[in-house]
Amino acid sequence: MEFLDVPTVLQISALFNVTAALVWLTLAQAFRIAPRASRLMAAGHVLRAATQGCGDCMAGWPELLRQAIPEFGLLGCVVLLLLALRRMVRNRRRARDIHWIGGLGALGLAASLASGSSVAPPLASTVAVTVLALLAVREVLRGVGDQLSGIVTAFMTLPFAALATLGIVHAAELLLHPGWGGPIVRNELPSAERAALLFVVTASITLSLIALMIWRVIMRIQHLTHRDPLTGALNRRAFEQALDSAQAQLQRGHGFALAMIDIDHFKRVNDAHGHPAGDAALQHCVRIWRQGLREVDRLGRLGGEEFCALLPLASPADLATAAAVTERLRAALEAEPLLWQGQVLPLTASFGVALPVTGDPKGEVGLVRADGELYRAKAEGRNRVCVATHLQPAGAS
Ligand code: GH3
Ligand code: MG
Ligand code: MG
Repeated sequence: MEFLDVPTVLQISALFNVTAALVWLTLAQAFRIAPRASRLMAAGHVLRAATQGCGDCMAGWPELLRQAIPEFGLLGCVVLLLLALRRMVRNRRRARDIHWIGGLGALGLAASLASGSSVAPPLASTVAVTVLALLAVREVLRGVGDQLSGIVTAFMTLPFAALATLGIVHAAELLLHPGWGGPIVRNELPSAERAALLFVVTASITLSLIALMIWRVIMRIQHLTHRDPLTGALNRRAFEQALDSAQAQLQRGHGFALAMIDIDHFKRVNDAHGHPAGDAALQHCVRIWRQGLREVDRLGRLGGEEFCALLPLASPADLATAAAVTERLRAALEAEPLLWQGQVLPLTASFGVALPVTGDPKGEVGLVRADGELYRAKAEGRNRVCVATHLQPAGAS
């Protein structure tokens, strides 16, 4: 690496860390994007910039300080990064494990510095950083692994895996060549390759976390544009999109059923207990129905107290499964009244189930059929499921 000398790499690295800290602070303060995670990231970068070894600038400092500052700095930086990462992937687990690993690493580092050994301090911090990097790999895999494609997940985990690998190699190096710690004590700089490699890993970790943040913002926007803010069910537009794509899949033999839902005498809830009680009733119903629906089912709020469930079926004419799932929703709501300000408010709903019709591009015919059945359920006394068995199922001509 002749075109770059070590002090230049270290200067670029310091500049990068300061810039990254400013970017994270801007995200936190000006845009309010994951403010706590962003502030932790900013703190991590500031710590890294302030403590990474700089050779001459530490000349004349006590030997212990020269050794301690970069090691404690790197450890602290990785702890902050992992705390930020845990928030970014919305892992609700408490950070006790991170604090423990960081604390034990710091303790080991302090003890080995006190022992006067040249190998033990870097070894202690390297082991702690490696364990934290492996924890970060697990954190990313668990946080986004099932929501993003394999390639994107690999891209996001790679920098942490690289940091762990560097840590393992470094630890082996320290153990196999015990004299390695000498240069640090003598205030010599690391090799250009080593400095550049560490900088590349730091930079790719930052890029990976920025990508994670962008993904989070996209998810948030999607949530806001697809979900009904009161209940969290799909809004009408998103439900219609889901219906469109289910309808397109119908041609390929993937069937589904539609269950139109209307809460019974809902106006009475509003009239007797006020609008907030009505809102709470809507949230209560959606919570109960979501529990009763399968992972593959979609629930949309079409307006007011009217909902529709899209129920994928194993076989296109399987009305029996659709009826069974819907009956489960009806019974669950009947069994669990809303508790509102110390009062028990019984709630029921009526359901109309129908199959879609092939050749109906937007699935509107199926919706109209299900609505017809819902009308019948209301007319027959409410709190029941009516199924359009007399109509031709999808695929029949
Ligand atoms: P039915 O059994 O025939 O369906 O009677 P219903 O009272 O449920 O139906 P109706 O259409 O007469 O009344 C629906 C009420 O739902 C009227 C409207 O004020 C109320 N509503 C619609 N959207 C909301 C909402 O977001 N929050 C609250 N609290 N009420 C709402
Ligand atoms: Mg109603
Ligand atoms: Mg209604």
